[in-house]
Amino acid sequence: MAIEILAEPVIAKIAAGEVVERPASVVKELVENALDAGARTIQVEVQDGGRRLIRISDDGSGIAAHEVRLAFARHATSKLRSADDLYQIRTLGFRGEALASIAAVSRVMLVTRHVDEQMGTQIKLDGGVILHEKPIGAPSGTVITIENLFFNTPARLKFLKADDTEKRNIGNTVMRYALAYPQVRFILLQDGRELFRSSGGGHLADVAVKVLGLDVFRQMIEVTEEEALPNINGSIRVYGYVSEPGLSRKDRSRILLFVNGRSIQDNGLTYAVTQAYHTLLMKGRHPVAVLLLDVPPEFVDVNVHPTKAEVRFQDGNAVFVAVQRTVRQAVINLAQTRQVHGTGRGSSETNSGWRMPYAVEPEDRYIQRELGLELDSPGQYPLQRAAPARQPEPEADPTAIPVGAGRPQKPRTLPMLRVIGQVGAAYIVAEGPAGLYLIDQHAAHERIMYEQFMADYARQGVISQRTLEAQTIDLAPDEARLVEMRLDALAAVGFILETFGANTFLIRALPALLADQDPAEVVMSILPDLEADKTPGQVNAEARIIMRVCKRAAVKAGQILSLAEMQGIIHQLERCDAPHTCPHGRPTMLHISGDQLAREFGRLGAE
Ligand code: ADP
Ligand code: MG
Repeated sequence: MAIEILAEPVIAKIAAGEVVERPASVVKELVENALDAGARTIQVEVQDGGRRLIRISDDGSGIAAHEVRLAFARHATSKLRSADDLYQIRTLGFRGEALASIAAVSRVMLVTRHVDEQMGTQIKLDGGVILHEKPIGAPSGTVITIENLFFNTPARLKFLKADDTEKRNIGNTVMRYALAYPQVRFILLQDGRELFRSSGGGHLADVAVKVLGLDVFRQMIEVTEEEALPNINGSIRVYGYVSEPGLSRKDRSRILLFVNGRSIQDNGLTYAVTQAYHTLLMKGRHPVAVLLLDVPPEFVDVNVHPTKAEVRFQDGNAVFVAVQRTVRQAVINLAQTRQVHGTGRGSSETNSGWRMPYAVEPEDRYIQRELGLELDSPGQYPLQRAAPARQPEPEADPTAIPVGAGRPQKPRTLPMLRVIGQVGAAYIVAEGPAGLYLIDQHAAHERIMYEQFMADYARQGVISQRTLEAQTIDLAPDEARLVEMRLDALAAVGFILETFGANTFLIRALPALLADQDPAEVVMSILPDLEADKTPGQVNAEARIIMRVCKRAAVKAGQILSLAEMQGIIHQLERCDAPHTCPHGRPTMLHISGDQLAREFGRLGAE
């Protein structure tokens, strides 16, 4: 083919591909326009995950009648004049591309009235072509409606993720802007249902509660710090909320960062936040954070990427250090006060307790149990210890859950072992015909409970236990949708939840194995397992939840076990289908054969 300059509609479609990748990017661009226009209330309405309809209404400045057409031209903007302005950007938009790009791949209707004009304007476009433009009576501000997005780019349409994913992306987009602009009221309606609303009252905390859910927000610490920037006449302000070390997630998706009112993705800064928790969080766990950075506009280049999600700082290191230091200081301060004033495990009412993930059971609790004092409130099962102890002592605690009750005795998969003792409050030492066994008590117990739980699940007989007082849990909107969709699956594994308001659920019952744990905490812990299965062939959500429940319920390393308890674990492990590994695939035991022992001691061959 000979070289030719592309026709304008082709250029427009190519450019559109960069700016409007998906429905959420349309929402992002239009919300930015509304914010730039000084809106105090922004309503986002979506149907079918944005495919059928996206409508953004604002009460901002509006567009003057004679400029409406121009707004849809490419590289038409009211926000930038010269190339120098690029280094002084104070608005969210400046490329003059969004309206043109969106119009090129959808059907658009825009109604707007400029604050200084009497009459409004209505304009309709189809695939970027203006169908009509006429004066119309309208309140000041702008309403833009996008229908049939990507109708003329079938490839793009095909690549759109499932409805739920798009809905979640849109929700996240709106919530991020709500966090960055607490003084603006945001309303999100999806398929006619209000999913999110911020008050516009100007307080970040109010919005953070709405976005993260009350139970998470209660475990957040406020940070605020201002530091002078070296080599520049200005300073950097870092403020917002970060999680106590007791609260963590398995991914970084709740580390929300903003620079000058712009939600950004920056691996470096995300790492700075995670780094601040060094040694305070388990490997593979990440904090929750909502952090806003204010820096001088000339200090940051936002013109790096068409979607403006990445930024570049004049001195990236200074920003990294400021973020890391601010967060670290806040977290360390908290740790110190907690140590001195040790509030211990907070009630779920105040949730102020210092909680490490997978905390080892406090020593005193163990000792009191050992002395026969029961710390658990009546009606709750002291299951962790009672369950394994049940077998060798049939007359044991009558309240113990009937794990394995009435189960036919399964065939042996291990030789019969004799318990010798415990080392390091973590391993059981046992002897068998083939030598010495060291058994990881936590991994082994996890395996036992997992197989029993799976068997119960398979015959739809998971035992769940009512919570003492019905407790509510307040979730982030996207999490709440996820839970809502999976209520049946959750019930099948023993979690009985009821909707109780927009993002609130009543916790009616939990799997009996977890009856002695904080219900809200337990429910929070399984949320990551609910996400739709990404790759085919992966274990389903139910299996993931069962694995997590067993992990939580299993005896921990650090718990001293009685001989009977150790025998209980060993006897049950001997009859597991896969006794050699825990449900996560780690080994449950180390075996040293008689031959090996003899060799090590130089006895082999000796008489
Ligand atoms: P940019 O935001 O980069 O300037 P856009 O294509 O998004 O480019 O918008 C083009 C112009 O249309 C903006 O510069 C602004 O003047 C005007 N505009 C768009 N949306 C609105 C709105 N909601 N309220 C007022 N003016 C708007
Ligand atoms: Mg714009």
